[in-house]
Amino acid sequence: MGKMKNFIIFIFLFFTSVCFAQMETFYADGPKDVKKIALTFDDGPGKSTEEILKILKEKNIKATFFMLGIRVHNDPDTANKVAAGGHEIANHTYEHINFYSYKEKDKIKKIEKELLQGESIIKQVTGIKPFLLRFPNGYSKSDAIEVARKRDYYVINWSFGCDWMKISAEGMHEKYKKALKNGAIFLMHDLSKNEKILSFLSNFIDEIKESGYEIVTISELLNFSN
Ligand SMILES: [Zn+2]
Repeated sequence: MGKMKNFIIFIFLFFTSVCFAQMETFYADGPKDVKKIALTFDDGPGKSTEEILKILKEKNIKATFFMLGIRVHNDPDTANKVAAGGHEIANHTYEHINFYSYKEKDKIKKIEKELLQGESIIKQVTGIKPFLLRFPNGYSKSDAIEVARKRDYYVINWSFGCDWMKISAEGMHEKYKKALKNGAIFLMHDLSKNEKILSFLSNFIDEIKESGYEIVTISELLNFSN
């Protein structure tokens, strides 16, 4: 019986330590007790980046941009404009591989390679070494979280996003408004195929502020210091 008890305690401690290790590395929203939210933009730099930067500047707020390495490589000027605007620069890997459907044997190595390639080009172009990461498609299985943790990254998903849905801009705007809550992390994209957000982003920012929320970067929302 003693052995069985020890075994149960071992299993319990093992799983709690795994859970805690992941809790420290992985987030999909911020604290529920503060009226703060974050806007995040994925996959850029893209066609909408400059317009989004203009809106953010007008509204005097900072957002977090999860940049795709290959697009930073292709459009370093726009990537630098985001950095110059004082926004937070984060890593979205290099090529946007969907690791949910990646079945090759080298998966772990590939995850690490994608992370490092994204980091390398972002650093080369903007001079910033990112420490926030979002895997394509919000991939958040433990294999990837572990790779990110070892590389000193926080993995950040989102609490709400719908700018890829085939719905009207008005419908989209409504959905974003309904998802407003303490600690919300909103996902949008700075690509031409997601340009419907441009028609309501400015108003949405006003509505967030009027509802008493502060719009901050992911680091500020989650109290990361580096
Ligand atoms: Zn993406």
